[in-house]
Amino acid sequence: MTGTVYLVGAGPGDPDLLTVRALRLLRSADVVLHDALVTDEILQLARPHAQLIDVGKRVGEKRLTQGAINQLLVECAQWANIVVRLKGGDPLIFGRVAEEMSALRAADIDFEIVPGITAAIAAAAQAKIPLTDRSVSSSVAFVTAHKAGDKYQVDFTEGSAAATTIAIYMPGGCYREISQHLIASGRPANTPCVVVASACRANQELLWTDLASLQELSPPPEAPALLIIGAVAGRGDEAVAVSLLGSHPEVFAAVR
Ligand code: SAH
Repeated sequence: MTGTVYLVGAGPGDPDLLTVRALRLLRSADVVLHDALVTDEILQLARPHAQLIDVGKRVGEKRLTQGAINQLLVECAQWANIVVRLKGGDPLIFGRVAEEMSALRAADIDFEIVPGITAAIAAAAQAKIPLTDRSVSSSVAFVTAHKAGDKYQVDFTEGSAAATTIAIYMPGGCYREISQHLIASGRPANTPCVVVASACRANQELLWTDLASLQELSPPPEAPALLIIGAVAGRGDEAVAVSLLGSHPEVFAAVR
C-alpha cells in the first residue's frame, strides 16, 4: 500500500491565508516536504510528530536537485499514508510541479493538487490594486524573469506583450533588463510599477515607482518580491487618471 501525495499551496506566508483544506492536510500529514518559501508560522501548524523535510535548504553550497526531490517524494509515499508537498503560493504557478507529477505518475502514486494564493494575487491585495480594473486593464500576465536552467533571462515575447497588466515573479537581479525591454517594446517610461516584497509577512515592503525609475532601484528589494507593471499600479486616483488620458485628455487635466 502506498500513501497519497498532496501537492499543497501554502500561499504567500501568512497562515491565515492557507485554505481550510491545506490546514486540514497539514494537521494530518505524516511527512511534510517543504520549500524555503514556506514560513515557520505555517510549518508550526503541522502535527507535532510529523516529519518535516526542508527540500529548499542548501546543503553546503548545493540545493537538492529536482530529481532528488522527486525521488524523495516517491520514497515517502512508500512508507507514509499522507505526504504533503508544501509549496509557496500556488503549486501550479512557477512551482516546478510538472516534474513531481511525472515522477508520481511513473511510480503509480495517487496525488492531488490543493491550490493556494499565488504571489501576484497576494501582492495585488496588499497594494490594494485591482489587476484587471475594467477602466484600464482587460488582461494580466504572470511572467517570470528567470527561465529554468538560465541564470538571468528575461523573455517577454510570449503572452505578456499583449497583456495590459504584467505580474513578474522572481524579478531580482533583472529590474534594469525588465525596464529596458518593456520601454523598447513600446510601454511608456512613466508606466506605474509597484514592487511588493515579502507580501503578507511581517517584513512586507511596498515600493511605488515607474518603468524608467525601475532601472535605478538600489538596493533592490529583498526576495521574495513581486513586481506589478501597468496603469493599475498607479496609486488610487492616478490609475483612473491614466485611463482617462487615453480618450479624454481634458478630463485628465481636470483630475490633476
Ligand atoms: N508558486 C509560487 C511562486 C514560486 S516562484 C506562487 O504561486 O506564488 C518564487 C517567486 O514567487 C519569488 O521569487 C517571488 O517573485 C514570488 N513570491 C512568492 N512568495 C512571495 C511573497 N510572499 N511576496 C512576494 N513575492 C513572493
